[in-house]
Amino acid sequence: MNEYDSGVMKEMLVKNGFVYTDNPEIADIVIVNGCVVREKPEKKAIETLRYFKEKGKFTVAAGCVAQKDKQNLKDVADVVIGPMEYDILLDVMGKGGIYTDFADYRDRFYKYAQNRKDISFSEYVTIMTGCDNFCSYCVVPFTRGREKSRSIDDILAEVEHLVRMGVKEITLIGQNVNSYFYEGFEFKDLLEKVALIGPPRIRFTTSHPRDISIAVFDVIKRYSNIMPWLHLPLQTGSTRLLKEMKRGYTKEEFVYITRLARKIVPGMTISTDIMVAYPSETEEDFEQTIEVVKEIEFDYAYMFIYSPRKPSSAFYRYKKTLPRDVAVKRHRKLVDTVQEIVIKKRRKMIGKRYTLLIDGHSKKDPNVSRGKTEGNITVVVNKKLPAGTFVDVVITDVKGVTPFGNIIS
Ligand code: SF4
Repeated sequence: MNEYDSGVMKEMLVKNGFVYTDNPEIADIVIVNGCVVREKPEKKAIETLRYFKEKGKFTVAAGCVAQKDKQNLKDVADVVIGPMEYDILLDVMGKGGIYTDFADYRDRFYKYAQNRKDISFSEYVTIMTGCDNFCSYCVVPFTRGREKSRSIDDILAEVEHLVRMGVKEITLIGQNVNSYFYEGFEFKDLLEKVALIGPPRIRFTTSHPRDISIAVFDVIKRYSNIMPWLHLPLQTGSTRLLKEMKRGYTKEEFVYITRLARKIVPGMTISTDIMVAYPSETEEDFEQTIEVVKEIEFDYAYMFIYSPRKPSSAFYRYKKTLPRDVAVKRHRKLVDTVQEIVIKKRRKMIGKRYTLLIDGHSKKDPNVSRGKTEGNITVVVNKKLPAGTFVDVVITDVKGVTPFGNIIS
């Protein structure tokens, strides 16, 4: 979401006379659009602002870091602007000050988004902002505000523009895309309308297990340009802990949804987010997570150790986190379990044919490209191909968790 916001902010500024550089050392103004979901990126954003402020630059703190840390940023940022205030970005650039209200809509911001010119082969489109769920460990409802769905006309205009510009892949984004609702249109309706415009590949993230509906799986099945990939955060496999986290579903319900998704959309890949060492997580809770992971066999997972985030309710409720060695041990076991499953699944890809959308090159060897399957699995090919190219491959080998493919077209 920050990446999308940064792109639109860039468009706003460049269209109004600012000159962009990706080298902050030579810039007069440095904008840091920072994330606070975990402690490390939050600290890094603040350190970056301090570094450039000390160098005499005009600094702008944007994003969730601005919203969350507004008072502490006064010494390191000339402008502090929260994500729902980007409509006034141009007005405050020369002034300085703190702007962190939650505006009802980002009219001006979305107008720039709809006409942006500096685009890549793969682009995000924001469909909603904020979240009403208040999961116990999460700061998003405090930094992004309450849920606000974007006008369907604005979204479709942006998708049409991107398709005209030749974009190959569009990812609809929001903190909880499944709760999209605008003047009678639900997420499934929006998804179908986007599919009909015709971008070659459509994805969406993030889904919430409580809010996703069977109707969404039906739409995915009906349109070949909606990719058979679902990112569905599990967080924990313990129903007791899910309740404590205020996630709104049980372990059984989560397993049921994933089974249904794979049944309705054959070949559907499912990725997830899992947190270990929530302050009240017992060994038994953790083992239930391992059980669910084995049962669902996720295609890949992002796995984290709990990080206390002010002002989430868990931050105030638990004075202590679990001992670091316990957290690290559980994280290691979870990573190993997921890895074992993923390797097994990747090996099953050998001999099968996939269409890749090339998205980059190997850092070590520019003659080696990588691309994503329809199910969002990264595959390596031994040929230099431009980003944004579609190519058919047969998987010939798997090293670690990475499949390697031979080009067949
Ligand atoms: S649903 Fe996601 S964004 Fe919303 S509060 Fe929960 S974890 Fe945060």
